[in-house]
Amino acid sequence: MGVARPQHLSVLYRGPLSSCNYACGYCPFAKHVESPEEHRADAQALARFLAWAADQACALSVLFTPWGEALVRPRYQEAVTRLSHLPQLRQVAIQTNLSGHLAWLEDAGRDKVGLWATYHPGEVTRERFLGRCAELDRLGVRYSVGVVGRRSHLGEIEALRSALRPEVYLWVNAFKVGPGYYTPEDLARLRAVDPLFEVNTRRYPSRGQACGAGESAISVDGDGTVRRCHFIARPLGNLYAQPVAELLRPRPCSRPTCECHIGYVHLPALGAEEMYGPGLLARIPEGPAWAEPSAYLARAAQLMPR
Ligand code: SF4
Ligand code: SF4
Repeated sequence: MGVARPQHLSVLYRGPLSSCNYACGYCPFAKHVESPEEHRADAQALARFLAWAADQACALSVLFTPWGEALVRPRYQEAVTRLSHLPQLRQVAIQTNLSGHLAWLEDAGRDKVGLWATYHPGEVTRERFLGRCAELDRLGVRYSVGVVGRRSHLGEIEALRSALRPEVYLWVNAFKVGPGYYTPEDLARLRAVDPLFEVNTRRYPSRGQACGAGESAISVDGDGTVRRCHFIARPLGNLYAQPVAELLRPRPCSRPTCECHIGYVHLPALGAEEMYGPGLLARIPEGPAWAEPSAYLARAAQLMPR
């Protein structure tokens, strides 16, 4: 009997590239400067992944989650563009600091592109970052904007929220340095900016829970090693060694907790699909849903009652 083809597969791709043009103090990645050989290896790995994607018959969504900033590199701009024109591609998203130029998006299938854009106060001015957002608006490209929720960023976060169009979702990643970091007043301010902030403040006890990672979503690295998610190191196999469907099946989570958006959104009990719809990978909630998040917040609270 053949292996059933998945109806839709989300692929989180993270190649070897691990450099960045910014130097955020809170970033554990991107401290590397690639040699020409390392750039070549990253380009080859990316080309191989694109060829694989073009060859797939099932519906795909792809999120690039580089160890650094990839979108300043023409090869990643071309990768997003090429993927966006594949008929089986539902969405292509990429995490970016939005520092690179954006004119290349003119050639992309823009209705399929979603940018996960993070603002890093201290590395870029708010005005410059907002200028890039305005350019995305002009191009008709959807995006979410996010900030790391350090207490020292609070004023900037609020100013950014006021300056963005109301339809643009601004997420805040909780700065998870231990209990007591935020005062009740900080929490109220952050919830006022990001109605879904609460969901990101928890470490969900995930061991034994059903999770779509490894069944409807996978993580792939540059050499094709497939893992169920970025947080569980054990490989499932290799993308280029057999049909991917052979690697997919339901599995309970083996980690004690799951605390990143790119992980916990695959917990069916959270119902993130309902909140984000096709914008799930780029963290872009469906317009009306995030203005009325009570059902989503209630499901998150059930997963980890306080
Ligand atoms: S922009 Fe992102 S990848 Fe680059 S240093 Fe800052 S947090 Fe790290
Ligand atoms: S719950 Fe999180 S850590 Fe566990 S399998 Fe799913 S994505 Fe991975």
